[in-house]
Amino acid sequence: MTAQNSLLYISAPVNALVEGLYREDTTIADILARGDFGIGTFNDLDGEMVVLDGVVYQLRSDGIAYAVTPETRTPFACVTFFRPYSEEEIDQPLDYPGLLALFDRLLPSKNMLYALRLQGFFDYVRTRSVPRQDAYRPLVEVAREQPEFEFERIEGTLVGYWTPNFMQSVAVPGYHLHFLTADKRHGGHLLECRPRHIRISLQHIARLELGLPLTLDYLTADLGRDTSQDLREAEH
Ligand code: ZN
Repeated sequence: MTAQNSLLYISAPVNALVEGLYREDTTIADILARGDFGIGTFNDLDGEMVVLDGVVYQLRSDGIAYAVTPETRTPFACVTFFRPYSEEEIDQPLDYPGLLALFDRLLPSKNMLYALRLQGFFDYVRTRSVPRQDAYRPLVEVAREQPEFEFERIEGTLVGYWTPNFMQSVAVPGYHLHFLTADKRHGGHLLECRPRHIRISLQHIARLELGLPLTLDYLTADLGRDTSQDLREAEH
């Protein structure tokens, strides 16, 4: 598959999420029709989403992965049909800055979208999961109280994307990865990791499909504010 044929689907602009719009009508069935690989969250901000090999996992604020029904809804999700065309084996311990530097070398251009899958053994992984929220509480406030989880000597998979900075009202800019343990029971939004033996699979994506929700909340919201500062604080 070429970059031109690869399409990233984003169900709603991330700006709406940053402004506290935590309920939309997009279902998990809609998401799986548009991709088998990706990340996101659930209505009422009820945990972190991982879509891996066509299965959706809901990592709630207890750090545990729950099964998801097709009718479950999401206010924000990014998916693609994952068909990597470059793979890299890493067989040495890396700290997190080292991993980010390696990503930077693997991406031919920062102006493109990329899907990233890292599978293998990690010396250390630190994640968080958002706790369920009432609508309209700004994301940046919610993010200050989210539980964190640490994993040591753990096998698992990181799923996520690189998004160029100029798309920051549409998706989380930079690297945005979610973790799922190999037993598929735990994980969350990645804060930091130290991989030891991993395979990095990379897909170049040259097209974007953006859903604009039709809920009254969305249609009447004021999304004119520059949310880049809030997003940086909430997501990294
Ligand atoms: Zn996340």
